[in-house]
Amino acid sequence: MDTSMAIKVVKFGGSSLADAKQIQKAAAIIQADPQRRYVVPSAPGKRFSGDTKVTDMLYACYALAEAGVEFQKELEAIQARYDDIIAGLGIQLSLADEFAVIAENFRKRAGKDYAASRGEYLNGKVIAAYLGFPFVDAADVIFFQPNGSLNDQKTEEALRARLTDLENAVIPGFYGCGADGYVKTFSRGGSDVTGSIVAGAVKAALYENWTDVSGFLVADPRIVENPAVIRTITYTELRELSYMGASVLHEAAIFPVRAAGIPINIRNTNAPEEPGTMIVPDSSDEEVSAYTITGIAGKKQFTSINIHKDLMNSQIGFCRDVLSVLADHQIPLEHMPSSIDSMTVIVDTEHLKGIEEQIRTEIIKAVQPDSMDVEENIALIAVVGRGMCRTRGVAARIFAALAHARINVRMIDQGSSELNVIVAVKEADFEQAIRCIYDMFVNSVAE
Ligand code: ASP
Repeated sequence: MDTSMAIKVVKFGGSSLADAKQIQKAAAIIQADPQRRYVVPSAPGKRFSGDTKVTDMLYACYALAEAGVEFQKELEAIQARYDDIIAGLGIQLSLADEFAVIAENFRKRAGKDYAASRGEYLNGKVIAAYLGFPFVDAADVIFFQPNGSLNDQKTEEALRARLTDLENAVIPGFYGCGADGYVKTFSRGGSDVTGSIVAGAVKAALYENWTDVSGFLVADPRIVENPAVIRTITYTELRELSYMGASVLHEAAIFPVRAAGIPINIRNTNAPEEPGTMIVPDSSDEEVSAYTITGIAGKKQFTSINIHKDLMNSQIGFCRDVLSVLADHQIPLEHMPSSIDSMTVIVDTEHLKGIEEQIRTEIIKAVQPDSMDVEENIALIAVVGRGMCRTRGVAARIFAALAHARINVRMIDQGSSELNVIVAVKEADFEQAIRCIYDMFVNSVAE
């Protein structure tokens, strides 16, 4: 590793590498900046809507092998995807031997993870050949612990040792070596995590994550028409928004770079001139958005259990007793707003399926409330922004927008970090609530 020059680690998602044309775009991006030294590719994704990702083809093919059914035709269809790419790129490369090994390993039941990982492995080989970069097998540098979590130290040491003398390298995403010596993958979308681990290990100045959108949007485009792009967002803000369902990046991809203070830049392979979204450390003094808020996200399908008891505040252990009922049933608690004589627990409706009556009975037994009601079809909306704590009137504007739209707010929760305000509304009001908050903060500035 030449330590004199800032390093960028670049990860390309499946749609950025779905065919030869897309790979050429990715290559042009890599070649445009000598700092883009280490490349982490996904497997070829969908070329058009309705297409199948190579990873899914591999899972399906291996399922046949596992069932003892002939799978050669399915494997040939996968090989055809790569052969098409190789022909389109005009390189001299044959994957025939690789596919023979894969077929043999499938017959030996090498495992579902091994099967899925071949998508990234082979794409890595192709891209390395096209770029003229060395190929580094992720199974030699990324290691898992027996409990399935990443072996950070061993991984970091192996990556550093392997990359020290390499000016450039292609390291396939999504997999590594399990504690048992067999290939193991991250969960779906895990190439994002590989990119982050590599960036952390080489102390990159930037982790660029190239995808097919120009960054995170202030609100869900299925709800708000043509929403603005978030220019900068902190790691913590991103956690808040992704918890509420905004997803572009794998959840676990934040941690390795966050620990090293490395920013992530989400970029669009199909529009490389656009700056995308910068995900920056919490301590960063990056400008706060002109909109004051950073993003709005939300989820439906919550249930609110409202428990009332006079003098609840003086009954020691009241909340604990209610919460232990949830804990006994392994139900995660989402929010818990309270007042002097009442408390509410909000949980994901899914977790109550089939046991709602039982939970009710157990809560009554545990705390003997004066009354209790259960309300389903609740939606939660998080309005997130690091600028909130420094700006007066944010809450006032959120509630004015909702009141103006005649939306009744069922619950309000402000995180102690003052980074978010969460409001609960009826599911029927969900979309309208997001639109009116968006209008209040974004459209009023943009006009
Ligand atoms: N190819 C894997 C998937 O489809 C991993 C990734 O693309 O990040 O989930």
